[in-house]
Amino acid sequence: MTGDTGTVRQQDNHRVTATADLPHRTGSGDGTGPLGGTGHPLRLSILGATGSIGTNTLDLVARHPERFEVIALTAQCKARELAALAVRHRARLAVIGDAGRYDELKALLDGTGIRVAAGPDAVAEAAREPADCVMAAIVGAAGLRPTFAATEQGCRIALANKECLVSAGDIYMRHAALCGAELIPVDSEHSAAFQAIGRTDARSIEKIILTASGGPFRTFEAARLARVTPEEALCHPNWSMGHKITIDCATLMNKGLELIEAFHLFPVGAHQLDAIVHPQSVVHCLVMLEDGSVMAQLAEPDMRAPIALALAWPERLATPVARLDLVTLGSLAFEAPDHDRFPALRLAIDTLGAGGAAPAVLNAANEIAVTAFLEKRIGFLDIVETVARCLENAEGHGLLKPVETLDDVLGIDGEARKMARSLLPS
Ligand code: NAD
Ligand code: MG
Repeated sequence: MTGDTGTVRQQDNHRVTATADLPHRTGSGDGTGPLGGTGHPLRLSILGATGSIGTNTLDLVARHPERFEVIALTAQCKARELAALAVRHRARLAVIGDAGRYDELKALLDGTGIRVAAGPDAVAEAAREPADCVMAAIVGAAGLRPTFAATEQGCRIALANKECLVSAGDIYMRHAALCGAELIPVDSEHSAAFQAIGRTDARSIEKIILTASGGPFRTFEAARLARVTPEEALCHPNWSMGHKITIDCATLMNKGLELIEAFHLFPVGAHQLDAIVHPQSVVHCLVMLEDGSVMAQLAEPDMRAPIALALAWPERLATPVARLDLVTLGSLAFEAPDHDRFPALRLAIDTLGAGGAAPAVLNAANEIAVTAFLEKRIGFLDIVETVARCLENAEGHGLLKPVETLDDVLGIDGEARKMARSLLPS
């Protein structure tokens, strides 16, 4: 994306713009966007089609069938759901990550004319299937290879997989610029920042403030936090999402990951990024400008709004998202995050200062710890404690070194997972 939409950011505060030496396309460049100008439906692939973002994306596709042509759909293990989605949306290709489910998917799609493949390499191949837009919505670092593969096409990437930017931010942004891909953030806060920045010159941005709901345990004392269950943690007050991100919202790790995500997407330094708790999740981001103005984007918390934007930008797509009623809402509440009860935020910010592979270690350790919590092997407070211990140990094991390639990142990710597992009860 260009400087005037304020998005592509590279190392050392070097801001890449459309006129810089790395070619890339922009969300606002020629004013047409994938849905505009061509008169053809948008060829759309969805990585992670059975997930929360994937199904919300397909909900919008179903509401505007004339505007989309579904190319590839992928999922990890829900063969039945994947097959049903592929048939309903007349996809050309359905790919299941778990190779053991190939026969099941093949049988389900027999006679439909929909091509079928299985295994992690096939997921990455599906990402390369020619498309105008790829929704990158696999959860976790598992999304890195497919998202990189999709980006090679130089098409629009609707980027939901935040772990890609957390673990491999500099490398991914360089890759996207070199491939001429056009990134539109799907994460609601980053979509909000993208819209709030608009055509503002990057140099006029003083601060980007991401809002956080505070999660279901915002008001809990530390002693009570120690006893919360996965079932309680999965009850997000405002958003309906996949399990991993819902737990991340409860620990506030999600906001930490999002600050790292914002650091890579927008032309600001880490000191210009902040998070504020806003329990209503109506204001998604605030952008403070040098003239004292604050630009914000407001909407009811429904991911179909940022997804629609990522699909249609610079056009808009009609959605059934509930309309905001400010009179009924009455007031908007904000408070500072409590770093003592929710240390994840600070931990994540600190990895930006440490640089190199530190954010990749943070992400990998967090994925392992969240799984352990969901499986009731550790308590809620142990999640962030495990991540912190992993980061401490990683330093001693030389894991916080600089990373240059995706393979470097995946190597560190694997080591950090091993280390995190070794810290946990089996
Ligand atoms: P989810 O768990 O609901 O769905 C994940 C999808 O990824 C599923 O289709 C699953 O089959 C697939 N998948 C899982 N492991 C895989 C693997 N190893 N290989 C290939 N595919 C695999 O997750 P979600 O909530 O939709 O989140 C997806 C991404 O979007 C995450 O990175 C999340 O942080 C981000 N995001 C989600 C939301 C939201 O509202 N759900 C909001 C902002 C950002
Ligand atoms: Mg978000």
